[in-house]
Amino acid sequence: MLSAKWMEELVEKIGEPYVQTDVDDRHIYRYNSYPGEYLPQTIVFVTNTEAVSQVLKIANKYKVPVTPRGQGTGLSGGDLPVHGGILLDMSQWPASIEVFPDDLVARVSPGTMTSTIHAEVEKYGLMYPPDPSSSGISTIGGNLAENAGGPRGLKYGVTKDYVLGLEVVTPEGEVMQTGGRTIKNVTGLNVTNLIVGSEGILGVITRATLKLIPKPLSTQTVMAAFNAMETAGQAISKTLTSGILPGKMEFIDQACAQAVEDYEPNGLLPTDKEAIIIIELDGHPKAVREEANDVSQIMRELGATTISIPETKEEASRIWEARRMVSPAITKMKPSKASEDATVPRSQIPAMMARLADIREKYNLTLVVFGHAGDGNLHPNILCDDTDKEEREMVERAIEEIFRTAIELGGTLSGEHGIGTMKSPFIEDELGSLAVSMMKRLKKSWDPNNIMNPGKVFPDKGQRLILSRQIEK
Ligand SMILES: Cc1cc2nc3c(=O)[nH]c(=O)nc-3n(C[C@H](O)[C@H](O)[C@H](O)COP(=O)(O)OP(=O)(O)OC[C@H]3O[C@@H](n4cnc5c(N)ncnc54)[C@H](O)[C@@H]3O)c2cc1C
Repeated sequence: MLSAKWMEELVEKIGEPYVQTDVDDRHIYRYNSYPGEYLPQTIVFVTNTEAVSQVLKIANKYKVPVTPRGQGTGLSGGDLPVHGGILLDMSQWPASIEVFPDDLVARVSPGTMTSTIHAEVEKYGLMYPPDPSSSGISTIGGNLAENAGGPRGLKYGVTKDYVLGLEVVTPEGEVMQTGGRTIKNVTGLNVTNLIVGSEGILGVITRATLKLIPKPLSTQTVMAAFNAMETAGQAISKTLTSGILPGKMEFIDQACAQAVEDYEPNGLLPTDKEAIIIIELDGHPKAVREEANDVSQIMRELGATTISIPETKEEASRIWEARRMVSPAITKMKPSKASEDATVPRSQIPAMMARLADIREKYNLTLVVFGHAGDGNLHPNILCDDTDKEEREMVERAIEEIFRTAIELGGTLSGEHGIGTMKSPFIEDELGSLAVSMMKRLKKSWDPNNIMNPGKVFPDKGQRLILSRQIEK
C-alpha cells in the first residue's frame, strides 16, 4: 500500500506495474546469501536508463536510500537494503550484447548474465575472461559493481581489467559516460575504475563497454590430489615459479570434495585426500600438451598421489562443473553459510591454511576451504546454524580472526566479494583511517544526500560484525 509522497511520484513516473509495495513482495528481497535480513519499503523494477534516472531524481529529492540489486548472489550483503528505502531491481532489464569483433569490444546491458556474454563472444572466436563461478546466476552489473574475479583471474585479471567505458546514472539522476571504447585512453581521471568495484555506492551502472581477447586455441585440465595440505601448497608455488602460467589454478579441501560428492555424486573428485588442485592450461595445442606434462611432473615430485588428465573436453568440463558445485554443495552441510574471500600474498598460502586449521579447532566449527589458489584468493566458509546463539558467537569471533589473520599476513579482507555491510567494520584495520576518510570525502561530494546504497563499504556508527537476523519492518 502506498503511504509516502515519494512512492506516489515513483508510481506516476515509472508506472504501477514496476513499483511494488506489498509486504509479501518486499519480503522476497529481505535477504541474500549473507545471513542478515532487511526489508525494503519499495521494489522498483527498471529496464532502461531513463527509468533509473527518474527513480534516482525522486530518491534524491526525498532523500530516500536506493539499493541496486542484480541477481542477489553477492556474498558481502551489498544488495541488502540495510537502510530500507528503494530496492532497485535490475534483473528484469533485457539482456543485450553488441559485439564489435574488429575492435575486440562488446557493449552490454547491466542485467545480462555473465555466462550469456561468454557464450555470445565465443561465437566470434573471442573471450571475455572474468569468470566468477556464479557467471550463470549473476549479472554483469553486479560483477562490475563488485569487481568480480574468478578462476581465470590468475592469468587474465579481474573485471576491472576488461572495462573500457561505462554509462552511469549519478545519485542526482544525471546520465554520465565514462572512458570510451579504445584500448588506450588516459583522458582525465580514471572514473571508470572508480565506479568498477564501488559496490553501488556511487551510482547505477546502466551500460558497459568491455574489452575482449582472442579465445585461446585449446585448453588442457590437470587434476592432482595430495595427502597433505603443505605439499599441495608447495606444488602451487613450484608451478607458479616454473615458467608456466596456468589459466586457472583452483584448490578444494577434503570437506568440500565430500560435500560435492554428497550433493551430486559423480565420483570425479577424490574424497579421501586432504587437498585437490585443479589446473587449466591454455594456449597453442602443442604448448598446452607439453605444459600439462611438466605440471604433472611437478605435482608428482611434490607428492601428488593421484593425477588425472582428462582426454576429452566433456570430461574436463565435468571436473570444472564439480568445482563450480562446491559453493552450492557446502550450503547443504548446515542451515547458514558465512563465505569469506580473505586473500593473501601467494607465498603466505601455506601460513594462511595453517591459521585456518587453528581457527577451526579453536572455535570448534565446520570451516571448509576452497578457492583460487593461484592468486592467493582463498574462500574459507563457515557452515553453522545462525539461530544457535552460542554457535553464532563462535562464528563471529572466528570470522574476525580470519580477517585479522589475512591483514597480518599482508593480505586483504576481500579479493573479490567486496566489503558490503559484512566487512565494513574492519575496513579501517586494512586501509587506515586517512585512506578511509579520503574515500568518505569522495563519496560525500559524489552523493551529497547519501542515497546510494548507504550502510555499505563504510560502517554505520557503532556497527560491528553481527550475523544475527535483523528484520527491519
Ligand atoms: C555460488 C556462488 C559462486 C560465486 N562465485 C564467485 C566468484 O567466483 N567470484 C566472484 O567475484 N564472486 C562470486 N560470487 C559472488 C557474486 O556472484 C558476485 O559478487 C556477483 O558479481 C554478484 O552479481 P549479482 O548480479 O548477483 O549482484 P548483486 O548481488 O545483486 O549485487 C552485488 C552488488 O552490486 C550492486 N549492483 C548490482 N547491480 C548494479 C548496477 N547495475 N549498478 C550499480 N551497482 C549494482 C549491488 O548494490 C551490490 O552492492 C559467487 C556467489 C555465489 C552464490
